[in-house]
Amino acid sequence: MDTILVGAGVAGLSAGVNLARKGVQVAVIDELPPASGASYGNSGFLVADTAMPIALPGMYKKVPSWLLDPDGPLRVRPSYAAKAFPFLARWLWASRMQQVHKSNEAMRRIQNPVFQDWKALVAPQVYSSLIRETGQIYLWDGVGPFETRIEDLLRSKFDVKARELSQQEIKDTFPGITPTIGRAMLVPGNGHTINPGRLVQAVKDELIEAGGAILHERVQRLWPAADGGWSVMTTGSLRKCRRVVVAAGAWSARLLAPLGIHVPLESERGYHVILPNPSIKLAVPILHKTGYFGANSMEMGLRLAGTVEIAGLEAEPSPSRCEVLVKQAHKLFPGIKHDEPIFWMGHRPSLPDSVPVIGAVPGFKGLFTCFGHGHCGLTAGPTSARLLTEVMVGASDGADLQAYSISRFR
Ligand SMILES: Cc1cc2nc3c(=O)[nH]c(=O)nc-3n(C[C@H](O)[C@H](O)[C@H](O)COP(=O)(O)OP(=O)(O)OC[C@H]3O[C@@H](n4cnc5c(N)ncnc54)[C@H](O)[C@@H]3O)c2cc1C
Repeated sequence: MDTILVGAGVAGLSAGVNLARKGVQVAVIDELPPASGASYGNSGFLVADTAMPIALPGMYKKVPSWLLDPDGPLRVRPSYAAKAFPFLARWLWASRMQQVHKSNEAMRRIQNPVFQDWKALVAPQVYSSLIRETGQIYLWDGVGPFETRIEDLLRSKFDVKARELSQQEIKDTFPGITPTIGRAMLVPGNGHTINPGRLVQAVKDELIEAGGAILHERVQRLWPAADGGWSVMTTGSLRKCRRVVVAAGAWSARLLAPLGIHVPLESERGYHVILPNPSIKLAVPILHKTGYFGANSMEMGLRLAGTVEIAGLEAEPSPSRCEVLVKQAHKLFPGIKHDEPIFWMGHRPSLPDSVPVIGAVPGFKGLFTCFGHGHCGLTAGPTSARLLTEVMVGASDGADLQAYSISRFR
């Protein structure tokens, strides 16, 4: 085998497709079916124009009130607080304005080409049936919190098109919406998918079509082999390859730690609810900036997603996080009717500066990474995978991947 990719989410599958199309012999290994993790359960927003790091200046002042509010957007499980501390400390440090600009620029480079890169990845009929270039509408109760000013500044830096909507336009676009919405803004350059799981499964189809393989195994350990390649111990067998790409989402750090490579990766556990057969259908998805959740009409119903819970990879889900999302839906659309909500929890693979690690791992010939996309991996995964695989097939020297180097954490 030439290249093993660990993880069949959007990152690993997209990188696998690009390599297979160049004639590289590849296998993507995942014990779960393709697109089972965050790549399945996300909000489906394709955020071409509004790359926003999670840590913003002044946010630290809000953290205590968020933590005390059971319906708040951030929760740290008390039993996990000590383990979460190093990540949270780095996250607060990343909220310096200088770092925010750096992260914003790095994120924008891999988010802005989202539509071209998804077009290159999947068949035209898949693209046209699952992706909508409709823009997104941001909503605020009142005039919006403090971070709105920073977001306005970052948008103006790249001359991002955005238009404030009048109260009448809000009512016309979203019949039945609560009158408490004080501000609404259309960002026309963004878009969405109506089924992220099906979209990422289409990438798996492209992988197979291009001659790649999927192996349903879990990678237990990987190490450099004496012949200069890699040994990959899985639940199926000991596999040998020339190169390995670690694209195992929130689990990636666990595979690297035994090699002495430490990355401050944390799972920002996120939740979604699907409201089946909803009485409202959104033509344009909503990002509710005051409530910190997204709402998107999908093939299976209205999906509301958001909230951040820091509790590690093992803890059981908290249904109360999903109940908060149902409550938010009813606050936003007071008369909404729907069938029994369906709850889901998944792991956003997050780094404190919101910038993923993409590229070769210095000092480890044949080892590459493509993980840490946090809140924006459905958007940035295909472009990250393209930039990575250009390096792997010798089409790029990797100079443009400097900002994503894993070395920044060493
Ligand atoms: C609630 C929520 C809302 C979101 N909304 C959006 C959005 O609107 N827009 C957007 O762009 N992004 C969004 N995201 C983020 C996005 O979904 C993720 O960044 C992206 O899916 C990460 O992709 P990935 O391939 O890195 O990881 P994953 O999709 O998590 O895939 C990683 C895979 O690795 C496998 N794996 C782990 N360990 C091993 C091992 N040892 N051996 C083999 N396989 C292994 C796992 O089984 C998993 O299938 C959201 C995420 C969540 C949770």
